[in-house]
Parts: sequence; structure tokens; C-alpha cells
Amino acid sequence: AMTQELDLKRYIRHVPDFPKPGILFYDISTLLRNADAWQVATGRLARAIAPWQPDLLAGIESRGFLTAAPIATRLGCGFTMLRKPGKLPGETVTLTYDLEYGSDSLAIQADAVKPGQRVVVLDDLLATGGTLAASVQLLRKVGAEVVGASVLIELENLGGRRKIDVPLHTLISYE
Ligand code: AMP
Repeated sequence: AMTQELDLKRYIRHVPDFPKPGILFYDISTLLRNADAWQVATGRLARAIAPWQPDLLAGIESRGFLTAAPIATRLGCGFTMLRKPGKLPGETVTLTYDLEYGSDSLAIQADAVKPGQRVVVLDDLLATGGTLAASVQLLRKVGAEVVGASVLIELENLGGRRKIDVPLHTLISYE
């Protein structure tokens, strides 16, 4: 019963003006700290993702690791990391993408995905969608069939969902 009723929004802390003035930061630390709430959140994500039958989950640095790793364990599939360049050993593939101001890059190990493996990509939050869209592209570059994407939190007004060309599941939405 608790699982059905628990309102996860109560566990997300809103921090105004972080990391800079004008940004309202959605802090999942307060969710992670609560064993029951985190158990419920990862359970709901796992149930939403399971029908996509992934072989591998990909987590986006760094809070995407926190969502993807426990769900991979629950679903019995592998887990791989999309990281800032320079962090992963061995041969890597990098993708640079545009931000509102400037650009950013993500990297993956070149052999992280076997050709045609079904991959679901995860992050904590969807804002403009730039990070998640770039992650989908990067995974395709290394041979993945990206079968879905999932985030804990979607900021609907920023319209990021329009940039995502795979099925997208979100657990908590804000206008
Ligand atoms: P975007 O590429 O604009 O969709 O931004 C998503 C990425 O930035 C995610 O990895 C989030 O962790 C982080 N992010 C963007 N906006 C916020 C916010 N308001 N609160 C917390 N994290 C954010």
C-alpha cells in the first residue's frame, strides 16, 4: 500500500539560486537519504523500464549513475557509464553538444556496447534535454539500439522531451 501512495515529490528538495542565481535546483539528495522512498523510486523506475527489455542501462555522470546502477541490479542487466572526457580508461568515443551558453562533452568506452544491444539511458533530471539527446546519439555511435530513456524528474516547461526521439519515461514532473 505504501508503494502506491508514496508521494515522491515530498522527498525532492528545491534549492533556489544553485549553482548560480536564477536556477532552481531540484536536489535528490533528500530522496536518496530516505531508504524507503529511494526503494519506492527505484522500484517504480524498474517496473517502467522492464518492458523495454534492455540488455544494458547507461547512466549519465553523475546523478544518472545513482538511478541506473540499482535498476540494472534489479532487472538483471548490465550497467555502463557516460562520463566527462578524460575519466574512462582505454579507447573512448566522445560527443560534443551545444548548451545554451557554450558546449559540453560526454564520453563512453568504445567497447561498452555490443552491436545491437538494447540500451536504456538514465539521468536524474530532464531540463532542456540537451544532455539526454546527446547521450542517445553517443550510444548509437558505439552501436547501441537505444530502446528508451528515463529520468526521475522532468521540467516540462523547458520542452526537453521534444529533443528525445526514443520512448521517454519520467517519474516526477514539474510544470
Ligand atoms: P539539460 O541538458 O538542460 O536537460 O540538463 C540536464 C542535466 O543538467 C542533468 O544531468 C541534470 O542533472 C542537470 N540539471 C539541469 N537543470 C537542473 C536543475 N534545475 N536541478 C538539478 N539538476 C539540473
